[in-house]
Amino acid sequence: MSINSQKNQSYISDSRADLARRAAGSQRHSGGRTVLTWVLRFGALLAYGGYAWLLWTLWRGLEPHISDDLTVKIAGHAVGAHQVREKLFDSGLWLLVILPFVLYLEALVVGWPKAALRRILFERNASIRMDIANIVADQAQVLRIAGRLMTFGLSAAAGTWIHDQIARHTGVSIGLSALPYALQIGGYFFIYTFFDYWTHRLDHTTLFWPLHRYHHSTEDFCVITALRQHPAAFTPVFLINMPMAILGAPVDQMILINLIVTLIGLVIHSGIDSDFGFIGQYVIQSPVHHRLHHILDYKANGVGHYGLLPLWDRLFGTWKGDADQSLAIGVDEPYNQGFGFWKDIVRDYVDFGARLFRLVTGKPILPTPPAE
Ligand SMILES: [Zn+2]
Ligand SMILES: [Zn+2]
Repeated sequence: MSINSQKNQSYISDSRADLARRAAGSQRHSGGRTVLTWVLRFGALLAYGGYAWLLWTLWRGLEPHISDDLTVKIAGHAVGAHQVREKLFDSGLWLLVILPFVLYLEALVVGWPKAALRRILFERNASIRMDIANIVADQAQVLRIAGRLMTFGLSAAAGTWIHDQIARHTGVSIGLSALPYALQIGGYFFIYTFFDYWTHRLDHTTLFWPLHRYHHSTEDFCVITALRQHPAAFTPVFLINMPMAILGAPVDQMILINLIVTLIGLVIHSGIDSDFGFIGQYVIQSPVHHRLHHILDYKANGVGHYGLLPLWDRLFGTWKGDADQSLAIGVDEPYNQGFGFWKDIVRDYVDFGARLFRLVTGKPILPTPPAE
């Protein structure tokens, strides 16, 4: 038995043992569960409602004081009120509203013993610690700065500039602004998922795989896994953000689309054991289909389910059928996980660089065939 298949075996048996343990746990809980669980769930609902109300009240109190011509200086840069608002919506809203909402929702559906929130708080394995470390480094701007350095500034490239140039020189301004607002959002979401689908296919090619492998290195879905992204993964900048801007998606609508995409991203990396029925077949990817995309023995079966909108998988022949939450996930390459994640970032970046170098010098991207 090769090292890889031994590793697969141990993952699968670990995962089966884990499932058996969880099943035993849930049976133990089932007796006195009903009343107490519903009381706790109702309490949690009230707590989340109170939390959301508190945030909303704070925002309502604060908003009138943020005048439009207000500018503050941060690290020598003048930042206007509209940028502060965008920043709040861009990173504050998901962190304070969307993330707690999905964690709460998942706990409600899968029950507290299996909840990602409980495991993040009290039972952190190496995979979960890496996800937490990623969020902390991202919020502290460390990953963003690292990403700009690794991509030589490309990760901050702006497509709105190109759109404006086209409009200025040709008089043609593409966009959906003639449509009602809801249709614009729906239309841009549809277009976004198309670009996202093909970007994701590209990320799975031999050249780009090291940068995307970083995301696939998770061994445990815990909602925040969605945010485990390599800082140098620059394909979305050119293949999603830029075309969206050229197609005239206004900044405020892009922020909304990003929030919707973030929400879906968090849900599909949850432990919710559902295929979402008809919705999961065509409209929005389900957690179990995304789990199948993360399958550990991807080399044997090939991955499918690239699209946030499953319709694209149906149309382009990458729909792989159904799955469940018992599938073992991960990649063959060893990862440090935990707080040693920065070594994984560097290793994957160097790996991508080496593959790119071989490509431009006319050599095969991989020096030797991958081990079977
Ligand atoms: Zn992928
Ligand atoms: Zn994923």
